[in-house]
Formats: sequence, C-alpha cells, structure tokens
Amino acid sequence: TSDTLTPSSLRFDATTGLLPAIIQDADTGQVLMLGYMNAEAWERTQTDGKVTFFSRSKNRLWVKGESSGNYLTVISLHVDCDADTILVRAVPAGPTCHRGTTSCFEQVGQSAVPAAPVGFLAELERLVVERHQFPERAPTSYTVSLFKKGMPKIAQKVGEEAVETVIDAVGGNRASLPGEVADLLYHLLVLLVAAGVPLQEVIAVLQERHRLPNTRHLTEG
Ligand code: AMP
Ligand code: ZN
Ligand code: ZN
Ligand code: ZN
Repeated sequence: TSDTLTPSSLRFDATTGLLPAIIQDADTGQVLMLGYMNAEAWERTQTDGKVTFFSRSKNRLWVKGESSGNYLTVISLHVDCDADTILVRAVPAGPTCHRGTTSCFEQVGQSAVPAAPVGFLAELERLVVERHQFPERAPTSYTVSLFKKGMPKIAQKVGEEAVETVIDAVGGNRASLPGEVADLLYHLLVLLVAAGVPLQEVIAVLQERHRLPNTRHLTEG
C-alpha cells in the first residue's frame, strides 16, 4: 500500500475520530451504503480485506456482514482530495442493506435515464450466476431451463439471436434492433456463465486493447 493510505495521512474528525466511507459495488458501480471508520476500522479493512466500520450505535468495531454473512470484500481503497472521505470499491456477498435490498439508497422521485445503465450488465450477470448455482430457487425460470439443456443448446441460442440481430441491422429494422441485441447480450451472459468465464474477463480484454494505441485487433473475415 502507498503511504497516502496510512491512517496518519487521513484527516479523521478531531472530536469523533471518524471519517465517512462510501461503499461502491466494484462490478456494477452502484453505491451500496455509507458508514464511518476510525483509524482502527480503516486498518482492519486493509489487513482483513473485509469492510469494517466503527458503528456509532454499537460504539464498537463492526465488520459489515458479521451476523448476516453479507460481507463486503475489498477490491480497492480510495481517499478523496482533502483526505476526509474514504471510497471503498467492494464486492458484496449478498444484500448490503439490513432490509435485504442491494443498496441502502432508494431513489426519490423519477428520472428519465436509468442509473448505471452499463453496470446493469454486471447485475444481470450476478442473477444468471445465481440461477446457475441455485436452480431450486427459481424452478420455472427460463435461465434455469437453459442451463438444464446445457451448452450446445445455449450456444445455439446465441447463434440464433446473433442472426436475428444481423437480419435487423442489414434490413434497417431500427425498431426491433434493441430487443434483438438485448436477447443476444442476455444469451451471451448465459453462455459465459455456462463456460465459467466472468464478464470482467471479457471487459479486461477490451480494456487491454483500448490501452494499446493504434493496434488492429480484428481480422477481416
Ligand atoms: P451485518 O453487519 O450485515 O451482519 O448486520 C448486523 C447489524 O448491523 C444489522 O442487524 C443492522 O442492525 C446493522 N446493519 C447491517 N447492515 C446495515 C446497513 N447497510 N446500514 C445500517 N445498518 C446496518
Ligand atoms: Zn473531501
Ligand atoms: Zn440500509
Ligand atoms: Zn431474438
């Protein structure tokens, strides 16, 4: 760890000894909760790799998930420009809010554009993984039925949806293209889960290619 992350450089509140810590889902980008850390909680969060707060109501260190099992595994730690706010990017083991919801935050009112539209793919991937691991939780699920049919069938569905996408694109069928691409992306997610490939591995390939300038990665067929 760099020395910007040592407790001494963080500006813990002079009277309470606390700093606010924002917890963000490392995969989806969703903000999950806000908690408070003192110097010891900050150190434990780094050494144990699980988000640990100082609970103001319990007046003690609180490993998030200590009773629910819904731990937050640390991916990366960030400190803001004036060292008085912590950002933790973490992977949640289950719902972060004690009410059983993914996030503690609830939208107030409506907005035209959904929040974190691309991060939703990672959220969908999680659901597909859950269907794969726990088919008994959703016996009538289409995703579960796909996993039961297995790989040749899943790959065939990807092929069909790809062909439907191509037909719409070539035919200039603007209206049905989003639906067909949605079918394709969903079935691709199912295929990746069946093949044991995390979406992040695919994204990492794209990111690596993006990092290398002026390189041709695609061959024309
Ligand atoms: P947990 O840390 O998930 O085992 O939860 C233990 C207790 O901490 C719960 O019974 C709640 O009282 C409280 N708690 C858990 N998660 C949250 C949260 N996201 N925000 C506020 N309080 C929480
Ligand atoms: Zn600040
Ligand atoms: Zn909550
Ligand atoms: Zn389709």
